[in-house]
Amino acid sequence: MSAKIIYPGTFDPITNGHVDIIKRALNLFDGVIVAVSAVTSAQKKGNNFDFTERFALVQNVLRQIPKIEVCQFSGLLVDLAREKNVFSVLRGLRAISDFEYELMLADMNRRLEPKIETIFLTPTEHYAYLTASMVREIASLGGDVSRFVPLEVCEALKEKNKH
Ligand code: ADP
Repeated sequence: MSAKIIYPGTFDPITNGHVDIIKRALNLFDGVIVAVSAVTSAQKKGNNFDFTERFALVQNVLRQIPKIEVCQFSGLLVDLAREKNVFSVLRGLRAISDFEYELMLADMNRRLEPKIETIFLTPTEHYAYLTASMVREIASLGGDVSRFVPLEVCEALKEKNKH
């Protein structure tokens, strides 16, 4: 039996932290299904990417890595899990600040579908405080984010923030 895991997120945009987590998961699972959420929450800082841009960037950045499937979802994660017949869910834990929200999400997903198990991985320490919203904000103020995001994302951020 091949064991896959679903990695859901908004990826606005995909950062080196996300890629780090995906690579770690590939050491443990036969494949990672990266599920890009069509919906984002409204509070975001900096210039947001729309769904098409977020999805294309995830596909581009991950195209060289084998055993990755990129898909979209706009409903409940548990419905995607049932559709794919994959009940392991991957989430990244950075600092303590992620903990409560992630615990709540994992608990809710398990209530909705008891077969779901959420697996948390931690990134390498230089990405432990890296967030997509901080990257967007720095880029929108003209800062260099090349250490935090893959090249394709860096280019897309430059393009988006050109005035
Ligand atoms: P969401 O909007 O659902 O939180 P994100 O795309 O922001 O989605 O993040 C998806 C997952 O990746 C979350 O579990 C988040 O904690 C994790 N993540 C984001 N950035 C990092 C990082 N730098 N290191 C490790 N995990 C991360």
